[in-house]
Amino acid sequence: MQPLDLETALIKISHCKKDIFCPYVPKYCPLCGQSVSYRRLEEAPVNIPSPFVNGHREKCSFLLKPTAGTFLRGYDGNSDLHVGITCTNGLVYNYSETGINIGEHGWEQCINIPLVQPDMYDLLQQWDTYLEQFSAAEVWLPYRYEEHVHNCYTYALTFINCVLSAQGKQQMNKSDFTEKFVIPRTRKASKYITVYKEVCKNGFYIVDRPEQESDNSTGSHLL
Ligand SMILES: [Zn+2]
Repeated sequence: MQPLDLETALIKISHCKKDIFCPYVPKYCPLCGQSVSYRRLEEAPVNIPSPFVNGHREKCSFLLKPTAGTFLRGYDGNSDLHVGITCTNGLVYNYSETGINIGEHGWEQCINIPLVQPDMYDLLQQWDTYLEQFSAAEVWLPYRYEEHVHNCYTYALTFINCVLSAQGKQQMNKSDFTEKFVIPRTRKASKYITVYKEVCKNGFYIVDRPEQESDNSTGSHLL
C-alpha cells in the first residue's frame, strides 16, 4: 500500500456488477478472485484523479484546506477549515488571528476554485497588486480578527467582491458563493476522502454499480 500514490489518484474497475476502487489496476477481482481481462470497453479501468491540488501552483484562486493537517490525513469531516487567495507566483494570502499571512508552503493539498479566466490578461496583470494593496488595509490587522464574523472567509470573499465590483460585476454574498462554488467541490472531495480511507484500510473499496435504467437515486454515483 502506497498512500502517497493514492493521494494523487485511485483506480476504479467494474466487476461482479460492482464498482471496485483500488490503488492500482488489479489482475484479479478482489471480490470473486477471477482474473480481469479488461477486454470490453465497459470493463476498462478508470483513473479517478484526486480532487485536491497543490495550491502553490494555482494562480488567482480561492483555496480551502483544513486548518491543521491535510484532507487525506487527519481531517475528520468536522475539523476547522482555512481559506486563502493565491497570487500569480505561488504565494497564498490568508487572514488569521495573527493578521495577514503570506504562505510559501502549507497549501499543498487544497480544494481549488479558480477565480480568473486565463484570457483575462488585464486582471491577471493587476492581480498581485490588487491583492497586496487589499491585504495592507487596516481592517485586516490582527486585532480586528473575530473567529466567526471577521475571519479568513471574510477576507477572501471581500477580496473577491472587490475584484467583482472593479470588473463591473455583481457581488456575491457568503451563502451564494459557498453554495455555488464551494459545496460542489467539497462534496466531491468528501467522497474521495471516504474511498481513499477505505482503500488505505482494506486495499479496495466496493460499491454497488448505479442501475443503468432506473437510476434516480442521487447518492449512487461515487466520484
Ligand atoms: Zn469479480
